[in-house]
Amino acid sequence: MKNSKNKFFMIGIIILLVWVFIEAYFYSIAVDAQKNYTNDLLKQAQSHYNEINNIRNLPENIKNLYVKKNNEFVKVDPDLLVHSLLKKYQQSGFYYTVTDDTENNLDKSPSKYIYSIDKKTKRLKYFYDGIALDMDAAFYIDRMNSVWLKFFLVSLLFTTFTFTLIFLIRFLAIKSVSYRRLSNTLEDKVKEQTQKLDLAFEGAGLGYWHWNIQTHEHEVDERWLQMLGLEADEVSKHESDWESRVHPFDYTRIMPIIQRAIKKKKPYVVEFRMLHRNGEYVWIQSSGAVTKVDENGDALELSGTHQEISKRKKLEQVHAKNELYLKTLYEKNPNIIIISTGKKIIQANEAFFHFFKEYASLEEFKQEYNCICHFFSPSKYEDTITSGEGEWIDDVLKAKEPMVRIYYLGQEYYFSVYVKKIYEENAMHVMATFNDITDLYKLRHEYEELSIKDALTSIYNRRYFNTIFPRELNRAKRAQESFCFAIMDVDHFKLYNDNYGHDGGDEVLKKITAKIEELTQRSNEFFFRLGGEEFGFICSALTKEEVLKNIENMCKAVEDLEIEHLYNKPYGVISISVGICFSSDVSKSDVKNIYKNADEALYEAKEKGRNRVVLVENC
Ligand code: GH3
Ligand code: MG
Ligand code: MG
Repeated sequence: MKNSKNKFFMIGIIILLVWVFIEAYFYSIAVDAQKNYTNDLLKQAQSHYNEINNIRNLPENIKNLYVKKNNEFVKVDPDLLVHSLLKKYQQSGFYYTVTDDTENNLDKSPSKYIYSIDKKTKRLKYFYDGIALDMDAAFYIDRMNSVWLKFFLVSLLFTTFTFTLIFLIRFLAIKSVSYRRLSNTLEDKVKEQTQKLDLAFEGAGLGYWHWNIQTHEHEVDERWLQMLGLEADEVSKHESDWESRVHPFDYTRIMPIIQRAIKKKKPYVVEFRMLHRNGEYVWIQSSGAVTKVDENGDALELSGTHQEISKRKKLEQVHAKNELYLKTLYEKNPNIIIISTGKKIIQANEAFFHFFKEYASLEEFKQEYNCICHFFSPSKYEDTITSGEGEWIDDVLKAKEPMVRIYYLGQEYYFSVYVKKIYEENAMHVMATFNDITDLYKLRHEYEELSIKDALTSIYNRRYFNTIFPRELNRAKRAQESFCFAIMDVDHFKLYNDNYGHDGGDEVLKKITAKIEELTQRSNEFFFRLGGEEFGFICSALTKEEVLKNIENMCKAVEDLEIEHLYNKPYGVISISVGICFSSDVSKSDVKNIYKNADEALYEAKEKGRNRVVLVENC
């Protein structure tokens, strides 16, 4: 590209040089012509001068000068002759003056003439040796002008031609350079694209194939061969070679797809197994398209690529298997599993719909509820989460043993909840699993109740008393409330057992406790079986009078049961004795002391004749 540019530059320079040379030649011709014409002019002037000077310088001895006129010699004065000669010249347009003045001393060297041509007056002024000639030089100047006009016109023509030529060459040069540049760029581009394509094929691990449907020729490149571990000479260029390497099962599957694509002249992608040289099958993804059609538009040739996808296939199979496992784990899980944004439920498994029977799909469910949390309700033990949208997830995550109670279609269910946060690209979702523990929950609370309750009477047992007694005392201390503790004992119960039987005794204990329990309904009242036929009663925030009234009521109520006990004299019915320790200020009291005082008060009640209440204060 650079060379051709230089070439055109050189041609331009050469043309310019030729122009300069020819112009110089024209100029020299014009100058020569001028010189010749000037010489002619000067020669004429010189001859006139000589004639005049010859007459003027006649020798002194020639006194008489005769001029032949009409065959007669006529004597003439030389000066007159000069004068007449000048006149003659004047008639021919030459004006001469004879003067001794050398006009401004121009004639310093007598052997040389001096002249000047006045272009305005078109005259020649010629001085030599005392003679000044004033000659008409119009003819000369006209000739000169025509010489220079010719020179100018020829030069102009030639210059125009030359520069037009240079311009044309330059234009052609630019055209040719840009054309070459364009073609070079295109060529480079094609080369680059081909290289890129080749690299892309290599990078993508693509093999190339070409199939001529008419001639049944099937050509492949090296990478195509490499995929099957083959060398070029191991493969025939007939289509049957390819067919023989495709897994028979896959062949019957893919051929209809390829035939259809050929018919519709549409590109296709198929995946199939091909036999590797090592005897194993490798998975190939083949993409193809019709690349040549005949005049009827029927496909003649096909080209395409092969890519080995065995690894991908294997991964796909593993992935599909895992997906199946996961799906089964999720869909068929007996636990309810939901995916939620925390506020809105977005997915649920089969167990969800198995439970929420009324809803056939999540859409149906979502028409009524956004969140499963709308079904959470408090349990009587207050150990379940009931928070709503946006909070229940955090509460579940915080809880040691997260459980919810769902009351649905008239039944209560308990679920333990497990929540896992799932971070996706732009969002955080949670997967919550609800495990139905209704039976377990109920059983557990039953056991819990059993452990704190007495088996015979179903009131709180001694173990629970041991927990509640100090707790309630401390609470009363903190709240600065009054506190009361009473011990109740059935009178002459041994005698009852002895006379009415042990079972009867048990029944009596049940009846008494049921009655007293009935009268123990306030939240700050607790009733326990301390052991045998001995009971404990705790209450707080009551006055002494209220305490006395309440407990005396209990005594009365037992007596009013009118359970025959003839050996409990003098009453004849079952009765109880009660010892109370009451303190309006328990800041200094302790459990042991209170218990002891109550026990002593009970002893006193027994002593005083039973079926009565004895109260000890500020103990
Ligand atoms: P007191 O009026 O002085 O209390 O006379 P008491 O006979 O009740 O005397 P005590 O407290 O010594 O006797 C308690 C009796 O209660 C002994 C036992 O036969 C009876 N008893 C203790 N626990 C049970 C029980 O669970 N069932 C029955 N049927 N009897 C019990
Ligand atoms: Mg007793
Ligand atoms: Mg007793």
